[in-house]
Amino acid sequence: MLVYKDVRKRYGSFTALDGVSLHVNPGEVVCLIGPSGSGKSTLLRCTNGLETLDGGEVLFEGKPLPKSDVEMRGVRQRMGMVFQNFELFPHKTALENVATGLITVKKMPADEANRRAMALMAKVGLSDKTANYPSNLSGGQQQRVAIARALAMEPHVMLFDEPTSALDPETVGEVLNVMRQLALEGMTMIVVTHEMSFARRVASWVVVFEKGKLLEEGPPTQIFDAPLKERTRDFLSHLG
Ligand code: ATP
Ligand code: MG
Repeated sequence: MLVYKDVRKRYGSFTALDGVSLHVNPGEVVCLIGPSGSGKSTLLRCTNGLETLDGGEVLFEGKPLPKSDVEMRGVRQRMGMVFQNFELFPHKTALENVATGLITVKKMPADEANRRAMALMAKVGLSDKTANYPSNLSGGQQQRVAIARALAMEPHVMLFDEPTSALDPETVGEVLNVMRQLALEGMTMIVVTHEMSFARRVASWVVVFEKGKLLEEGPPTQIFDAPLKERTRDFLSHLG
């Protein structure tokens, strides 16, 4: 689904990604963990074309990411992205947030788009909040709308960048549950997270970043119970 080959990214003289190679197979949930500044978000941004590479390549569904903006837009439609700060449209209702891409991008008739958006709101457990504006939703609810909005475009892969780190603790679980459900349905997912219990339970593969490189990767049992690298152990033990 996604293949990273020796991916390099610099910001000026600073090396953010220093030769990252990784395979993400269809249906896998790959969790990216590691210290702040280690390059996790940069890898996601290099995946959906928000950043260009300085070296190496990223293959998505067998093809290198296109260089042109127009082609990249088509590719990006097949990648759902969910950020820390939801970024919903504030002047649209929850339902309109989910339906709008279907109408403007997928050119779906409004009634069909609304039906589909309703189904997605139900999927994320928010059938009773379709008419709410984002300001009248909790953080966890807003993030579930953001997930529904991404799913509306029928992505082939979902990229999550710390989707729960801006949330009140009591709403973290409802978002993780939606993500776990997606994983069970076979969605391919790359998830940057500090939620180690989620990574342990849901990840098929865990990747530990350190200074722009992969320090260690493996199944959650290896990473959390028997890491091969001392520094993986150090990182996990300092999470508190
Ligand atoms: P965090 O856990 O804090 O989100 P991260 O692993 O996601 O960290 P990145 O955001 O990928 O880290 O950043 C990697 C490094 O690249 C950091 O040191 C950051 O300061 C640097 N960096 C990221 N974006 C830019 C930019 N646009 N210009 C300059 N430096 C940048
Ligand atoms: Mg980050």
